[in-house]
Amino acid sequence: MIRIAIQSKGRLSEESLALLREAGIRIDELKRKFLARAADFPLEVLYLRDDDIPGVVAGGSADLGIVGYNEVAETGAEVRVVRKMGFGTCRLSLAIPKAQEYTGPSFFEGKRIATSYPNVLSGWLRENGVKADICKIMGSVEISPAAGLADAIFDIVSSGGTLVSNGLKEVETVLCSEAVLIARPDLDAEKQQILDKLLFRLDAVMSSVGKKYILMNIPNDKLAEAVKVLPALRSPTVMPLAAEGWCSLHSVVEERELWDKIEKLKALGAEGILVLHLDKVID
Ligand code: ATP
Ligand code: MG
Repeated sequence: MIRIAIQSKGRLSEESLALLREAGIRIDELKRKFLARAADFPLEVLYLRDDDIPGVVAGGSADLGIVGYNEVAETGAEVRVVRKMGFGTCRLSLAIPKAQEYTGPSFFEGKRIATSYPNVLSGWLRENGVKADICKIMGSVEISPAAGLADAIFDIVSSGGTLVSNGLKEVETVLCSEAVLIARPDLDAEKQQILDKLLFRLDAVMSSVGKKYILMNIPNDKLAEAVKVLPALRSPTVMPLAAEGWCSLHSVVEERELWDKIEKLKALGAEGILVLHLDKVID
């Protein structure tokens, strides 16, 4: 049995559970309790506030956790980052009122900075030889300059929309973050085995993200050129069609390149192009 801590409510909880579900691990979400057992995998889910996850994993009350890397950095908990999960991407940045001119890190000398991430911030200030006053607040950090509580803020940014609507501008990115799978450093052999099994499944799910399965009919004499457009996991699959002179070509493409490749394949004479959802990729 292995125990994983995930965020009970908030930005990362749905995606964390969805990832487990895609990996064939079903958890009774209707009766979301503090601790829930998976139906068909030796795994328990512990639902926590995100701030508590790194410490609980480092302390051994949970073996694994899914949490924003920003929380791992802030708590300084001794955990192993096992995988980057590719969601919950954001950054920790310094922002100042829009009207002020930014002159580099020394701008912050003697200033008051509001943040929920005092440890990450003090590390950055130290590295840059700046002495500033850190004001720790847990919510509504972005309104603190307008409210006269601080001269600047250090907070999570994703699109930047919240900063703009509060009359602020981002001037330094200190840490890039995304959801990570963390593990306690001292897993025993049995738990490590369960983790390996879980990673095999999670990797298959994560490898399919942003990819599509594509198949089409192509004249035999254009096949070589079409194969060049479509590099596959190893190499595209080619099957003969009953119609003379044609074959069926199957491959996997990155979604962001999809339309570009379809245009090239159409120009080569491809017909009956089908694009399908890809569920898992096992290398
Ligand atoms: P909790 O109640 O569990 O303490 P919280 O309010 O502290 O939750 P959330 O706002 O749910 O935290 O954010 C959880 C994590 O999601 C953050 O630590 C960060 O890694 C990521 N995150 C936060 N804001 C954004 C955003 N705007 N875009 C993308 N990811 C974000
Ligand atoms: Mg929190």
